[in-house]
Amino acid sequence: MLRSALLYLSEQPQIFKFVRKNGLAKSFANRFVAGETLDTALAAVSRLNARGITVSLDLLGESVHNEAEARTAGEAYLNILDRIHEKRADANVSVKLTAMGLDISEDLCVAIMHKILQRAREYRTFVRIDMESSEYTQRTLDLFEQRLYPSYRENVGIVLQSYLYRTFADVEHANLIKARVRLCKGAYKEPETVAYPAKKDVDASYVRCMHALLKYGNYPGIATHDEAIIKEAKRFVKENQIATSRFEFQMLYGVRRDLQDRLVREGYRMRVYVPFGTQWYPYLMRRLAERPANVAFLTGNLFKELVGKRRQK
Ligand SMILES: Cc1cc2nc3c(=O)[nH]c(=O)nc-3n(C[C@H](O)[C@H](O)[C@H](O)COP(=O)(O)OP(=O)(O)OC[C@H]3O[C@@H](n4cnc5c(N)ncnc54)[C@H](O)[C@@H]3O)c2cc1C
Repeated sequence: MLRSALLYLSEQPQIFKFVRKNGLAKSFANRFVAGETLDTALAAVSRLNARGITVSLDLLGESVHNEAEARTAGEAYLNILDRIHEKRADANVSVKLTAMGLDISEDLCVAIMHKILQRAREYRTFVRIDMESSEYTQRTLDLFEQRLYPSYRENVGIVLQSYLYRTFADVEHANLIKARVRLCKGAYKEPETVAYPAKKDVDASYVRCMHALLKYGNYPGIATHDEAIIKEAKRFVKENQIATSRFEFQMLYGVRRDLQDRLVREGYRMRVYVPFGTQWYPYLMRRLAERPANVAFLTGNLFKELVGKRRQK
């Protein structure tokens, strides 16, 4: 119920206008978002690299409204790749196709993605295409497989979400074509017609997909903070003698830092997804929806701030 309400709010731009003015919401966002500029994000990358953690940088921003906005977002990614290269940072990038104009024109989106992938290839780095809500799943996978992957096999990969009924079949297909996959549970509000409503089924689907990716996949990203699933991944790779260089764990910036460090100490590869930029509201709402304790923390602090202001008056 709370999750659905928060995911609904994540899609309301007028609420973002209100929230952005609130200093506390902004400072809470800083827990999950590495600031609003590329410089603050690159500083976060340096700190993570110093802890032995690699990064995927994400410029926040979802569906754009016109061609000019999509082209600007594409240019911003070229700049991110240039700066990563200049700084010799250990980071790649994650991109949302709707931010690259998918809703405006598929050809436009492909043209922008080609520029980004061309630059990524020059720097021998990698671009992950994030997965958005189920309305985009088929379009994202088709665009990837038919229009990007044939030219940039080494530089581009996809994300699959275990909450969708279709995902095990997508994992098998990705393994067949040797595409690189990040596996996550899925963060959007989805109807029962396409996604498992019960968490236990999402988790079981995750484990089934994870086994297939670890055994037959091409360098999968195991993206989760779920300790039980991580434990199962460790058990499975040991049993099947899968080297730690054949996969990586991935987590979100600001979530389970302790677990991130522990996995690095144990000799596993760890990548942290670092979002930054001014458009942090939908991302923050999805993080709140994942964990009711975050909502309690935020509302508790908002309350304290209000009481504090009253006392000052
Ligand atoms: C690297 C990465 C990339 C991702 N990319 C995508 C994508 O492209 N598309 C997409 O739909 N989703 C994406 N996600 C989000 C993902 O789908 C889940 O919504 C999110 O990771 C929470 O699921 P979980 O696997 O951690 O399991 P859960 O069962 O939700 O959580 C397990 C435990 O992790 C901790 N935890 C999880 N979330 C939070 C939080 N927000 N705050 C504090 N603690 C938390 C808690 O301790 C919780 O008990 C990505 C996640 C990661 C890690």
